[in-house]
Amino acid sequence: MIQKKLFPLLFSLVLLYSCGAPPAASDAAGGKLRVVATTGMIADALENIAGEYARVDVLMGPGVDPHLYKATQGDLKRLTEADAIFYNGLHLEGKMGEVLEKLARLKPVVAVADQLPKPDLINSTDYASAYDPHVWFDISLWSKVAGIIGEEMGRIDPAHQTAYEDNARQYQKKLNELHLWVASEIQNIPEKQRVLITAHDAFEYFGRAYGIEVRGLQGISTVSEFGLRDVTELVDFIASRKIKAVFVESSVPAKSLEAVVEGVEQRGHSTKIGGMLFSDAMGAEQTEAGTYPGMVRANVRTIVSALR
Ligand SMILES: [Zn+2]
Repeated sequence: MIQKKLFPLLFSLVLLYSCGAPPAASDAAGGKLRVVATTGMIADALENIAGEYARVDVLMGPGVDPHLYKATQGDLKRLTEADAIFYNGLHLEGKMGEVLEKLARLKPVVAVADQLPKPDLINSTDYASAYDPHVWFDISLWSKVAGIIGEEMGRIDPAHQTAYEDNARQYQKKLNELHLWVASEIQNIPEKQRVLITAHDAFEYFGRAYGIEVRGLQGISTVSEFGLRDVTELVDFIASRKIKAVFVESSVPAKSLEAVVEGVEQRGHSTKIGGMLFSDAMGAEQTEAGTYPGMVRANVRTIVSALR
């Protein structure tokens, strides 16, 4: 329905452009560029890299599931008024593909994770892109994304290219330190307990980067439903491996994993909900998990304290 409404809007924008009267978006932002990011993780990178020269808007707030997200009328207004749009890509924003494609004919629309070297990506047949889109959980990969954002901002606004590149390097330095911190924290979990069980498969990159086995109840996208068989298989796995805790996610309903915990208990083994992880969305603004590094730190502390 949204897409039907969007078409005339975009059509009129094309007309506006072809009449030589592009909307002066940056004027309304006090001379700053207006940049829109789909996820909070991308917005955090943009604020660090372009904050002084751009106003950064984010479409998906705390607890929002990007796999299922559809652009609202308010979003469409922000997207059409923006000077540039940054999104994850690799089919994370599965329901926004068409909107973003249309906007890409009018302005810079950057799919940050699409630009990562293919050998860095994890294959997944669950996505049209054939790759797992949850790249932000390998912080060394997200650091590469920060570099990509810096370069792209320099292309969009060449007058401040040096500043964007310098800021990107500063942010990367912070992320590289964070990457090392996560790797060392995970070592505090006894080797046999290094298994991360979550509601959906968002943590494959995390597992690969930091040496922890991962299992999700749902597939890699929350679009796929889980069935009784998935629950039974996961219950068997937890009981046989004597796993102490499983984790719910802020952007996925908790009841799926509660069924698993109950199932394990019926087998005479005990496991618990070890806490809530921020998987596909950051925490609320003004809280620790409201920034990308804070979200990572909160997750790692939750995981380590429940599994150690
Ligand atoms: Zn996801």
